[in-house]
Amino acid sequence: MAKVAFIGLGNMGGPMAANLVKAGHEVTVFDLVEAAMDSVVAQGASKASSALDALAGADTVITMLPAGKHVAGLYLGDDGLVAKAAEGTLFMDCSTIDADTARRVGEAAEARGLQMLDAPVSGGVKAAQAGSLAFMCGGSADAFARGKLILEGMGKNIFHAGDHGAGQIAKICNNMLLAVHMVGTAEALQLGANNGLDPKVLSEIMLNSSGKNWSLENYNPYPDVMQSAPASNDYQPGFMVQLMLKDLGLAMENSLTTQSSVPMGALARSLYASFSSKGNAQRDFSSILEMFQS
Ligand code: NAD
Repeated sequence: MAKVAFIGLGNMGGPMAANLVKAGHEVTVFDLVEAAMDSVVAQGASKASSALDALAGADTVITMLPAGKHVAGLYLGDDGLVAKAAEGTLFMDCSTIDADTARRVGEAAEARGLQMLDAPVSGGVKAAQAGSLAFMCGGSADAFARGKLILEGMGKNIFHAGDHGAGQIAKICNNMLLAVHMVGTAEALQLGANNGLDPKVLSEIMLNSSGKNWSLENYNPYPDVMQSAPASNDYQPGFMVQLMLKDLGLAMENSLTTQSSVPMGALARSLYASFSSKGNAQRDFSSILEMFQS
């Protein structure tokens, strides 16, 4: 079993760290917000007084932070995790951040002879709680083989996408496509409804035709078609509009640096930005359907 330092215990990190405790690992936690540590500590983790304090005795360090600037701030510099970690440490950053920062931090770790994976996740808070997240990893094959054994305590599908940053690229590609098919599913269902079709019947037809896609199958955006979907629960998240917008922003930034043409992703980002600014940032991302309703 590993000795894990887990830093960043927000909506995702808290339940992920708790699952590592359940899997039998020795987990020490740290978050800038004292209260964020309480529930994981109650489940058997130890509390550290700082990120560097959490490193003591750890062979594996996992971080789950808001954005690239938090990751760079914590890992890099003379007092950063990379400079202070013991020989043999494996870092896994599960935050969703820009691939450039992931590469920079991964290469800094490697330059010190340490292993690092960028390992962003697919699946929201429910999947974090259930231990059914998907992990998309970037880093060496050796680091992946070692990290996978620990990630298995928090997730089901664990992929090696390539070298440093590749996990983050896989994540933005996936979420850009998710946004595109969610928007497309919403506008198709609303077009049908505007013509008097029952959205349940139309959904059934498209599920058995070439319009079938993940949003239609698992996350129908039209209210009362699928009882388990956020659309049937007043669009309570789920996956918030503001998080989708963040991921689309990362995809757009990357498309500029790589000169990639992403017209569908750009349109989806623009629609989500407009929708978010009208008081919808914290609603589920499938509520984009309402844009097509007036
Ligand atoms: P969150 O804001 O709830 O949690 C982030 C935590 O990091 C906070 O508790 C904060 O106090 C802590 N933190 C920030 N800087 C720190 C530092 N220097 N040292 C210690 N702790 C620090 O965010 P979240 O919803 O848990 O998301 C975390 C990451 O996962 C984000 O990158 C997000 O994009 C990604 N993600 C979230 C979801 C989701 O549904 N919430 C799904 C997939 C991916």
